[in-house]
Amino acid sequence: MAQYSYSKLGTYDTCPLQYRFRYIDRVRVDVGPSVEACLGTVVHDVLEWLYEQVGHGVIPSWPAVRTHYQALWKATWTDDMRIVREGTTPEGYRKVGEQCLEHYYARHAPFEEGIVLGLEVPFEIPLAGGTVLRGYLDRLTKRGDGVYEVHDYKTSTRLPTPGEAARDQQAGWYALATQMRFPHAQEVRLVWHYLRHDERLVTTRTPLELEALKQDIVRRIRVIEAADTFPPRESALCPWCDYLTICPAKGHRLVVEALPANAYLGEPGVALVDRLAALKEDVKAYTDERKREIGQVEEALQAYARQHGYTVVVGSAMEAVIDEREVVALPRADDAERSDLEAIIRDAGLWESFSSLSLDKLRKAMNEGILPESLRARLAQLARTEQRATVRLRRR
Ligand code: SF4
Repeated sequence: MAQYSYSKLGTYDTCPLQYRFRYIDRVRVDVGPSVEACLGTVVHDVLEWLYEQVGHGVIPSWPAVRTHYQALWKATWTDDMRIVREGTTPEGYRKVGEQCLEHYYARHAPFEEGIVLGLEVPFEIPLAGGTVLRGYLDRLTKRGDGVYEVHDYKTSTRLPTPGEAARDQQAGWYALATQMRFPHAQEVRLVWHYLRHDERLVTTRTPLELEALKQDIVRRIRVIEAADTFPPRESALCPWCDYLTICPAKGHRLVVEALPANAYLGEPGVALVDRLAALKEDVKAYTDERKREIGQVEEALQAYARQHGYTVVVGSAMEAVIDEREVVALPRADDAERSDLEAIIRDAGLWESFSSLSLDKLRKAMNEGILPESLRARLAQLARTEQRATVRLRRR
């Protein structure tokens, strides 16, 4: 039975390669947790403890909450904790956590808003085909007849807009889970506490929105399960990635950054990218000879990247993105097997969908697993594997 969590699906969206490392290959890397993860965990644990105390009829004072937080922070802290953001310190993060809790305490004490039905409540949402979505609700409360609230605590630096909160997928999952558990619920409110900002964002979801969300989740899972390549997707989140040191998009940069300033220019990858950038600088001055040399440098770059397992090779000012992969190639318009391909599509009653026979579109549909298995098998007989490689320069 396939199981997905919100973070598992989110990991694939952030970076398919990170998904592969974490959930398919289960790669173990020797890196400590990030300080942001530590902050989130400790603040969540303190709020869980606080509401447990309230459930036993004890309302801890603010100094007692702060003492509990400080002890938990100390117990959770490890020397290999990663601090990525420049200029920040462990003490700074510890203070942020304390301020988050202080704001929350001041706003919500004596914590009598509704009846707490559960803390860290596990849930499962069954989907078609035996797939299950799993997760936890930070706090579930009942507010009067038929009104339920899911409370979630955020320690992130960014406060979303109301529009973003209304579209938030995680909130939708929680609404689905609560609606399933309490089918008689007249309203499920999703209360997001942005603790750094001392802000609450409250949203709800209509039955139509929840149905659309379910379909979207099924579609995303289908894309993941049909995927046979997991390319790196670089983003601003890479510095927090557990797999940074083994990532093919980052490996060359790390090697070059570790070299002394005057030594990196002689590094073969840097030299190749710099040469390619110089050759491509003035497009109008292209001669046949220059085009030939560009081809040779690109081939050399591909060979260099292949040898070291890189997908990005950095130069002084530019970097080269090397995309080398096997692709499914279907018969082209002038191939002998083209009529067979067209006959298969007509037989399947899909001619309208692909009538201009966009091979890119058809290949995408095959890759995403949205075609019936029998049709996919017939198409696979016509498909062959081709090696394709491109080198694209971009500014560093
Ligand atoms: S470092 Fe970035 S590109 Fe590489 S695996 Fe991690 S998230 Fe993906």
